[in-house]
Formats: sequence, C-alpha cells, structure tokens
Amino acid sequence: MNTIRYDFRSDTVTKPSAAMRTAMAEAEVGDDVYGDDPTVNRLEQRMAAMLGKDAAIFVASGTQSNLLALMSYCGRGDEFMAGQDAHCYKYEAGGAAVLGSIQPQPIAHQADGTMALNDIEAAIKSGDIHFATTKVIALENTLGGRVLPVDYMEAVGEIAARHGLGLHLDGARAFNASVALGMNIKDFTAAFDSVSICLSKGLGAPVGSVLVGRSDLIETARRHRKMLGGGMRQSGILAAAGLYALDHNIVRLSEDHRRAKQLAHGLARYDALSVTQPNTNIIFVEIDRRVGDSFTDFLVQRGVGITGRYGQQRWVTHLNIDDEAVDGALELVAEFFQRH
Ligand SMILES: *Cc1c(COP(=O)(O)O)cnc(C)c1O
Repeated sequence: MNTIRYDFRSDTVTKPSAAMRTAMAEAEVGDDVYGDDPTVNRLEQRMAAMLGKDAAIFVASGTQSNLLALMSYCGRGDEFMAGQDAHCYKYEAGGAAVLGSIQPQPIAHQADGTMALNDIEAAIKSGDIHFATTKVIALENTLGGRVLPVDYMEAVGEIAARHGLGLHLDGARAFNASVALGMNIKDFTAAFDSVSICLSKGLGAPVGSVLVGRSDLIETARRHRKMLGGGMRQSGILAAAGLYALDHNIVRLSEDHRRAKQLAHGLARYDALSVTQPNTNIIFVEIDRRVGDSFTDFLVQRGVGITGRYGQQRWVTHLNIDDEAVDGALELVAEFFQRH
C-alpha cells in the first residue's frame, strides 16, 4: 500500500487534535446506560438546544442513527421513503429492512438532487391492505456535498404533515450546509421531526453521531439502541470529543469549502476533466475516457488519497487538508498533464 500524503478520500479520515484528545482524557464520565454520564448528557442537551428540538441521543455512527430514527417511526411492515441515492437507502447494507423489517420506497432524484414533489406524493401509501404503510419521509442534506434548498425541505414537510407522516433528515453534513448558507442550524433543520448529525466527518471527532428530535422518537430510539447493542458505558470520553468539535470545528468548515472551490478551480483547467463546482466540501470529477484510470493511478501512486468509487473521482476537503495539501495535489495534477 502507498503512503497517503494528502488524504482527500473522505472527511471521515480526520484524526483528533492534541487539544481534542486532552478534552477526551479529562472528560467526566459515568455509566450512560444508567443515564449517569454527565458528558454524554451535556452533549445530548447541547445538540437538542442547538437544533431547537426536545431531545437527543448519542450513538456510535451515522448508520446507527438513521436506523434508530427509521425504527422509531416504523413498525414491522411499514415503509420509509427516501431518495434513490440516499445513504439510508443505498449505503447502509439494507439495515432498515434487515433489522427493522421496514420496507424502503426509493424515489428517483431530479437533476438538482431533489425528489419531485409529485413523485413523493404519488408513492405515499396508506389504508389499503395491499400496501405497506408509509410512515416517514427521509431527506438528506447535504446530498453528495450539494446543499438542497430550504424551501424544498419545507415543501416536503408540508406533504408529510398533510399525510400524517414523519420527516427525518439525514444531516450527516448538515453543519456544512448551514455554514455554506450562512444559516443557523436550528432554522435549517426546523421542518424535521428528527435529524441525524455526524460528529466524525467535517466536525473532526473520532467517533459518533447524534440523533436529535421529538422526545417520543428519542425515547423509542433509546430502547432500540440498547437492543442493537449500541448502549455504551463511559462514553463521555467520546462525547467530550463531540463537545470539543461543536466548540471549535463548526465555523472553520468554511475553510474546507474554500479549499474545495480552489481545488475544483485548479482541476477545471484541464479539458480532460469535468468538475462539479462544490457547494461545500465534496468534488466529483469525471475523467475523459482517453485519460481513463491512468490519471487516478498516477495520483494514488504519488500519495494522493482519492476515491474512484461510483464511476468517478471524489475529492473531499476536511480538517486535515491545509492549503499546502491542495497546492501539492494540484502540482501533481499539473505534472500528469505535462506528461500526457
Ligand atoms: C457518512 C454518512 C452516514 C453514515 O455515517 P457512518 O458514521 O459512516 O455510519 C449517513 N449519511 C450520510 C449522508 C453520510 O454521509
């Protein structure tokens, strides 16, 4: 394996800083299954307050958080609706179906990443004994690094309310969206009954997500977290990293967005590359077939970590990508195109 010098694979690769590790080491802890961990309790209360919701629960991962949310809305044989490319539908190993006996109803995305409101409305099922009963609509924002408009989320919220459905936001990167829009996270997530936020992506904590929402949902999620083996004990050590991240790593997300723009600008200079202009910290690059895999191979061999998944290159900026990493990577890109 090559040593990675500049790691653009994901914002999950960030390592806790010395100051974050100190906060973890000094965390006051207790047994969180008994509700006794003061640091976990502080993190949960703080997230609930930040988002203007009743309650929150600290969990091991974003995948667990989404699963707990879906299981809180849906019983066996119920249905959740989500975009065809939604993480909770496509990238969570079918957990809702396997562990929750919940049927997914995927909806095609429009070119702008939204789901057509007509498609959502047409797919809602209730009453008829032939159907699984729709209980919740799940949105994702950002979606592939793209910020979807607040009025779209509100419009889906109106549909959900009209049909008596829940509305969940997979907001793994919701802070990236709120920073990009210059909007308070509370206003950004106002339409939702529940929101899942990742601490271990752009916010730079080593572990954890928080599910925030209506108290009845969070109470049910607490039971399911225990059932899934996700009840942790002195997890204040981990929650302390999350609290540190909320204090220090939100405002600075704008730096990641600036560097992503710089990177996109640098890559777009080459005719062989077709680059999406980023809203936040994720860039997708389509590579001309004549250049093909040799471009990715060249970069990877020289220590640039990028993912070539989903039929294109993905570059992600984060806490451990500084200006030098962006410049260094772009120099290697220039070197490749001088040779080809
Ligand atoms: C990463 C991610 C998750 C899941 O997070 P894990 O902590 O890796 O399980 C969920 N939704 C979205 C949109 C994500 O990007």
